Amino acid sequence: MSKIIATKAIRGAHALVARADRTLRTALEEQGPKTKVEFPNTAYYLPIAYGILGLKIETLGGLKDLLQEAKKLLPPIPAEKLWRPFLGQTLDAGMAALFADEIIEAIKYTENPLPYLTEANPADGRLWLGAANDVIMRERGIEFVDGTAPGFAAIVGCCPTNEIAVKTARELQEKDLYVFLSAGTNGKSVAQQLQEEGVQLGWETRLVPFGDDVTATIHGLGFATRAALSFGGAKPGDYERILQYNKNRIFAFVLAFGPVDDEKHAQAAGAINFGFPAIADTDIGQILPAGICTYEHVVSPVPHDKIVSKAIEVRGLKVAISKVPIPVSYGPAFQGERVRKEEMYVDMAGQKKPGFELVITRNLSEIEDGRITVIGPEVDQLAEGSQVPFGVVIEVAGRKMQPDFEPILERQIHDFANRAHGVFHMGQRDINWVRISKEARQAGFKFAHFGSIIHAMYHNEYGALVDKVQITLITDEAEVAKRIGAARTTYHERDERLAGLTDEAVDTFYSCLLCQSFAPNHVCVITPERSGLCGAYNWLDGKAAHQIKPAGPNQPVPKGRVLDAVKGQWAGVNECVFQNSHKTLEVFNVYSIVEFPMTSCGCFECVSCVLPTCNGIMTVYREFPGMTPSGMKFSTLAGTVGGGLQTPGFIGHSKHYIGSRKFILAEGGIRRLVWMHKSLKEEMRDEINRRAAEHGLENFVELVADETVATTEEQVLEYITRVNHPALSMAALF
Ligand code: SF4
Repeated sequence: MSKIIATKAIRGAHALVARADRTLRTALEEQGPKTKVEFPNTAYYLPIAYGILGLKIETLGGLKDLLQEAKKLLPPIPAEKLWRPFLGQTLDAGMAALFADEIIEAIKYTENPLPYLTEANPADGRLWLGAANDVIMRERGIEFVDGTAPGFAAIVGCCPTNEIAVKTARELQEKDLYVFLSAGTNGKSVAQQLQEEGVQLGWETRLVPFGDDVTATIHGLGFATRAALSFGGAKPGDYERILQYNKNRIFAFVLAFGPVDDEKHAQAAGAINFGFPAIADTDIGQILPAGICTYEHVVSPVPHDKIVSKAIEVRGLKVAISKVPIPVSYGPAFQGERVRKEEMYVDMAGQKKPGFELVITRNLSEIEDGRITVIGPEVDQLAEGSQVPFGVVIEVAGRKMQPDFEPILERQIHDFANRAHGVFHMGQRDINWVRISKEARQAGFKFAHFGSIIHAMYHNEYGALVDKVQITLITDEAEVAKRIGAARTTYHERDERLAGLTDEAVDTFYSCLLCQSFAPNHVCVITPERSGLCGAYNWLDGKAAHQIKPAGPNQPVPKGRVLDAVKGQWAGVNECVFQNSHKTLEVFNVYSIVEFPMTSCGCFECVSCVLPTCNGIMTVYREFPGMTPSGMKFSTLAGTVGGGLQTPGFIGHSKHYIGSRKFILAEGGIRRLVWMHKSLKEEMRDEINRRAAEHGLENFVELVADETVATTEEQVLEYITRVNHPALSMAALF
């Protein structure tokens, strides 16, 4: 607790209460105690007195009770030497200041002419609007309830330049916040600065000039109090509920520009009672621990270009970006759209060029929200038909963000990118593939817009987790090559987190329906020992995704009764698949390739298929471009298996599943593997050997054919016969 802040706030409250006392005495002498006092057209009397104390003040005489309450709350001004820090006294002083503000402002309404306009917007050269009437309060207050307006910023003081004032106001407007303006410094306020620059002010533009006086700040808090009474079900006098409602539901903060005098400190202390923190551009000290406010109470000094984002961060405000700022149409309607080769302007990553997508968690101070960097050539520097590598690094920060949530956010890139008209996205991790159409290019779509999509959608859909999103897009081949290794290490570490957890040890699996945008009947059932086909979702990810979005595409699947432990069939899983496949699939074996296998979408990392004459299976990873012994390349196989079909003899799956004990368990597991292309075999060597060793087979990988020894089924048979592959002595597959 800062002694400087406390002393100034308490001193400011004393000054304001003394001023209220003087003003009230004069008004009583001049106008008499029966003179009516009211804010215009409101049923909430003087809202702070009514809401916090339950006082229905209607006359000048009635203000004496409020003054009395203010005096009762005033703590002594801290002594120079002996002082015990106590936040409670500062908060009391803040509340006393608010009572004093309301007295002074109420008396202004007895003046003739009225110092305030009673309209919703400034007019006839008059700027100040004072208290909102009930029509405005209901119309605007409901926006705070339904989320149309995430909150408000109460700006006090004056910016060093008009340019900073305009920039700050625009930034707040872009975030749909209301801006309440009051309390000038040396005769000038931000409202006047905006007026000088021709900025439209008023309730309609959400830039509301309450008044020049420091006491006009009360109209913002009065508005908040009325919102609690009107929408929060709080009763007059139930100050606890009113303050709690504001802390939890009205995301507001104070922005203080320029020197902060004692009276402004007192306003800040008053706002803290409501859970509204203060952020200043000058060094006024800090009150950092959370408590009354969700996070810090006073933060300073904050540079002008950071002050809005800092305030949003400190208040824990979740900002949604209403429109994705890109030059092409955007919406779920475009999700199923493909960009064919002849329509394509540029091809990114995929089978021809390297690429990766990685979400990483950072500290809030490490990244800048909305920063989008492109390393390498932009779309407009590339010729039509170009193929470029594409690395996507998304750094996110948020007080509720956890590294466990990274894969979930990462997998959403697919969904979010596909919503842009003329953008096609497939795959994930280091098998991403993106195409931008000629039409999108002509409309002005650039790589940087890929970042704009992610930035907007992460805020919109995962605002509860992320406060800042910074994106780096890499089309420079050397830079992608430099970073891809670290990305792969991260993928591997994520997969390893699951090691040791078995399907038997849990009673709930998770479904994933994300790929239904391409494969309408496809359901991934994610178990500890069988990750999602794309490799991007394991069981822990499914669980975390469900925690983040309880109504999202990952739902818990209670296993229910075991129907076949070897084939991997459970009553609960069948039920889930039946419902989610639109009643097209009744039986679903999680561990079988032959009998009612899992459906495949289009995002799988690998395809395995039966080689009948070999009594075994072959497995190919999606990056292998060559012919396989099945007589099909990966792309043809993917077309055969994908689309959400159950295709006996074929399955799409993750790389990780190959090393699982449950890999085609129904057909005898890894011992059935007779062909795998060399690069995948080398990559998976240890896992494959480890599993085979559990069946008593040493160095099993050497018994598996690859393209260097066999490219047809006949050649595979010759090879496995020569090396005495165990598949040949296993039960017939059909
Ligand atoms: S492949 Fe499966 S786990 Fe991966 S996103 Fe698609 S439905 Fe989800």
